[in-house]
Amino acid sequence: MRLFGTSGIRMKNLNPEIAYKVGFAISQRAKEVVIGRDTRTTGNLIKSALITGLLNGGVTVTDIGIVPTPTLGFSSRNYDLGIMITASHNPPEYNGIKLFNRDGTAYRPEQEKYIEEIIFNKNFKRVDWNSVGEVWDDDTSIRKYREYILKHVNINKEFNVVVDCANSSGSVVSPYLFTDIGAHVISLNAHIDGRFIGRMPEPNERNLNHTMRMIKGLNEKNGKYIGIAHDGDADRMIAIDEKGRLADFDKILAVFSRYIVEKSGKKTIVTTVDASMSIDEYLGDFNVKVIRTKVGDVAVSEALCKYDAIFGGEPSGTWIHRDVHLTPDGILSGLRILEMMEYYNKRLHALIEEVPSYVNLREKIKCNEDKKSSVMKYVIENGEKIYNVVPETIDGARFNLEDGWVLIRPSGTEPYIRIRVEGRNKNIAKDLLERGLKLIKKAL
Ligand code: MG
Repeated sequence: MRLFGTSGIRMKNLNPEIAYKVGFAISQRAKEVVIGRDTRTTGNLIKSALITGLLNGGVTVTDIGIVPTPTLGFSSRNYDLGIMITASHNPPEYNGIKLFNRDGTAYRPEQEKYIEEIIFNKNFKRVDWNSVGEVWDDDTSIRKYREYILKHVNINKEFNVVVDCANSSGSVVSPYLFTDIGAHVISLNAHIDGRFIGRMPEPNERNLNHTMRMIKGLNEKNGKYIGIAHDGDADRMIAIDEKGRLADFDKILAVFSRYIVEKSGKKTIVTTVDASMSIDEYLGDFNVKVIRTKVGDVAVSEALCKYDAIFGGEPSGTWIHRDVHLTPDGILSGLRILEMMEYYNKRLHALIEEVPSYVNLREKIKCNEDKKSSVMKYVIENGEKIYNVVPETIDGARFNLEDGWVLIRPSGTEPYIRIRVEGRNKNIAKDLLERGLKLIKKAL
């Protein structure tokens, strides 16, 4: 059995007994940890249980309260380990635990496995009464984080921004940082509420409908507002352009990568296997090397260091700015959107429209956990006959063709095989999808 998934531990009705065991297991290898949480109603319950486990093993705990994940990641540099209690974009009944290294990167699978082994083998050792840990409250982390981020952005123009925080922990930092840089800020869903009363925390078209309409309405008069919307812990952001449209993740990744490369002079960026070919094509004109990794911020941050890349981004809206820190940061990313608009002296919609548009299609097919690996084996072995090309197998199977590509991979969290295709036009995309679906059904 596994506790940790693709992004730490995440469950509906997360049981505090699990949190206690995780805290106790961590105490077997750490002396000083920092802990923070998002706004979920179960946050204090999970935190108390974690802390009990930590103290039982003699750990000194610094509690920084309700903070965005990037603030926790940033604060981890002074401790053996950082613990963030969050379920990110999941609905309010979920909660989770994500662990961070001193360098701000999330725990790698082999580190998580080590914690699991302590739990499953019951390898716990309690300390005596005179060595039980202590808890310190620290309310300076947000100020330190804000000061640090401000040192790394350079914005002189006055921008108009709607910041939508989903009632989550982004609320305590994001609108303030945009105000710090001199923007005129309208904050939305920016009081903390663990039920996410304003909107659900996944920053997608459905949940941001109201925010998009609001921006469109504001701009009918002066056309100057853009939107920055976060997920439930503000390690992600999605931008809304002046026309009130969601900025396509792939396109914004492409134009932003170009900006970073131009500004820094470094030529390598990292993205995941599920990102659009428009990124390579748009950046090809600028001599940029695009490294592709497995899906997930852990793989992206590992590749950033391995290839000495300057920037890493996932089409989910997770961006890592290596020149600042290694934790995905939706707030810093939002500020850098403004920085980029100032640099090119262009509106956001105009920047996005520079990137070519292709047709993307997605499907998922039910597949039980125990069949996933045999299905993928079949797809990898037989896909060549269907697409006339040997697949890349960094994460699932990706078939790169002249006019498009196909990615078939098992879901990390749900009983599905997912297929995503991109084609230069609708007919190509449809054909690629149909052939892929046939292949998967045969494998099943
Ligand atoms: Mg998140």
